[in-house]
Amino acid sequence: MTTVHSPLVSPLRAAGYAVLPTPRETRLTGGTVQVHADWRLAHRAVDADDIAVRTLQSRLEEEHGFRLTGPANVNSPTVELAIDPQSVETDTDDDRQTQAYTLDIGPNRIVATGVGPAGLFYAVQTLLHLFDSGQGRLPQGRIRDWPRLAWRCIHWDTKHHQDTLETLRRYLDQAARYKINAVLFELEDKFAYPSHPVIGAPGAFTPAELQSLTDYALERHIQIIPDVQSPAHLCYVLKHETFSALRCDGSNYQICMDDPAARQLLFDMYDDLCDATRGAKFFHVSTDEVYYAGICEKYRRPYNPENRSLTLIDFIGAAHERLTRRNREMLIWLEYPLLPEHIDKLPARVINGVASRDPDQIRAERRHGIRRFVYWPTQGSELVFPRYFAFDPADGARNAGRLSAARDTFFDPALTDEAPMGAIAAAWDDAGLHNESFWLGWAHMAQHAWTPTAVSVEETTATFMDIHYGRGTAESMAAAYRTLHNAARLYEQTLEKLPSKVRGPAYGHPLWKGPMPRCDTGMMPPAEPRLPNDTAVSMPPVFGKRYAEAVARAPAAQDDCERLIEQLHGLLGRAQRNRYAIEVLISLTTHLRHFFRIVADVAKAEDSLRQAALAGKQGEHRQARRALIRARDTVRDTLRDGQAVFEGLRAVWERSQRPRNAPADGKFFVHVMDDVKDHFADRRADLTYLIAPEETLNLGDWLTQIDETIQRYDAATNRE
Ligand SMILES: [Zn+2]
Repeated sequence: MTTVHSPLVSPLRAAGYAVLPTPRETRLTGGTVQVHADWRLAHRAVDADDIAVRTLQSRLEEEHGFRLTGPANVNSPTVELAIDPQSVETDTDDDRQTQAYTLDIGPNRIVATGVGPAGLFYAVQTLLHLFDSGQGRLPQGRIRDWPRLAWRCIHWDTKHHQDTLETLRRYLDQAARYKINAVLFELEDKFAYPSHPVIGAPGAFTPAELQSLTDYALERHIQIIPDVQSPAHLCYVLKHETFSALRCDGSNYQICMDDPAARQLLFDMYDDLCDATRGAKFFHVSTDEVYYAGICEKYRRPYNPENRSLTLIDFIGAAHERLTRRNREMLIWLEYPLLPEHIDKLPARVINGVASRDPDQIRAERRHGIRRFVYWPTQGSELVFPRYFAFDPADGARNAGRLSAARDTFFDPALTDEAPMGAIAAAWDDAGLHNESFWLGWAHMAQHAWTPTAVSVEETTATFMDIHYGRGTAESMAAAYRTLHNAARLYEQTLEKLPSKVRGPAYGHPLWKGPMPRCDTGMMPPAEPRLPNDTAVSMPPVFGKRYAEAVARAPAAQDDCERLIEQLHGLLGRAQRNRYAIEVLISLTTHLRHFFRIVADVAKAEDSLRQAALAGKQGEHRQARRALIRARDTVRDTLRDGQAVFEGLRAVWERSQRPRNAPADGKFFVHVMDDVKDHFADRRADLTYLIAPEETLNLGDWLTQIDETIQRYDAATNRE
């Protein structure tokens, strides 16, 4: 029985299995086979300590309580792992070929054969997915599989936080389950550059630590791609006074990239990272958003679109020469301000990490032979949780959500007809989301970049949940993600962009230099309390009026969050893995619930103050005083709840991350903000950026004012 691949349900999902990415060809013959400990493990042309062999045995032991220990007897039922370069004909002549594998599952014999070691490793991952979702009962038949794109890359952005090494090793194992084979590791100051020790943040990874992580990844057929943000986005370097002379036009955002000393500094950093990632194939020099290339006019003038593009081209050429000497293939973001007509001046071997839909650029890249990755952001500037699912923005048309956009992006002919070498799922740290929230997006990228025909967004999500959290969790986990997603959207829609009280104007707009006013994300504070016997002044519901809609929705939103927290606690009992991720989801939901409580409580306290004013006007002093006390208690309790919630969140997060920018070994973090960018997560050096929006309400001051009002009222009405 050959199962036809339906766009609605893949054959394995239809048979009740959870495999992600969905294999290219599946032929099921109808029966099943139960694998036990008395099955024998055999290998052909494979070392006994190959990662594929070890992964199979250790995962069976950790997650199912047994290893394959059957006797070496020809009659024993057998799982055989093999490497055979001739086993699959893929018609590809690139890195995809060695990733191909077959999996033959018969009543007494299972054979997993890789064209190369990576192929065998992926055969084992598929076998384990079948094993998990079938609880040891496997479907008989044949799977023949290799990737649609050679490189499936996820983005670890550690701009504003640092995961522990233990976390990153866990992430590498997790990535391997989804056949992800590259990590764009945006290190910024989280690496202790030996050539310039001032750049590394306290606790930054040492060269030995990074090398150990690189080796761990390589063993799992994953390339770590070090990414040095340069020559723009360089505040983490240029904020240090010792490099101030290298700032272009005085801005700490961008280095003066024609300056020989500037190039030396960056190339020293590249060298340091090449030394600490031996065995890696790629290097990303970023070239992200180099808005102002050559703006100082010290080396090339005038500053205009053409010279701006040429300045960047010169720099890329020099960096490419340097990295070629280190045997690295160089990735860049090939984008503004590079002009399409200058693309033929680039080294032809550079790889564009952000494939463009612009036909002029596509033609120029094709002519010049530039290879490309399809790029899709898992997250951008959204707060708390990615915009995965459809939602209705406060203004504008319904947004289909990022998961739907991922499928559209990875099957967009304009992006994929040119045979991209890979796909990148970016996950920016700009808004400081927890990395555990990115796995759903990363898995969707892995699905679309591996499987040649589109698998539905919903199936991919359900299969991800069954794999990530364990068999049978899909419905509840997917529902939990949606509730959290919707709560995060309500949070975003309630917050406003207010003229900044914290930061001065930016150095420029992406398209020009000139002061750009900035905004704080937050809410307008409530009205100041009035003495109830001050009959001249009324007490308007400032907050209650401005945020009427949010106030009306706050009680239901709190209920939703509470139900979600209960649901997640229930899932902690059922999940077979990644329980920590569920704890992170609980921390996020608790954080949002507290926010909705604030909205409700501030409106309630404001209302109590109004009642106090009303009673005071009528000479009902006792009633007025009681209303003042109610307002005070409400605000005080909300603030206390906020403290407890934040400490709870911090305790969860700091199990996977270092305490944010905490001193280490006598070194202190230098917190200077970027002259151009204004990342939500960079507003504070510590984790309190998460509560910065609610702090714009100044509730602590409001509480003090209410307390003083009570005292003054008591004095005026002779009550002690
Ligand atoms: Zn300059």
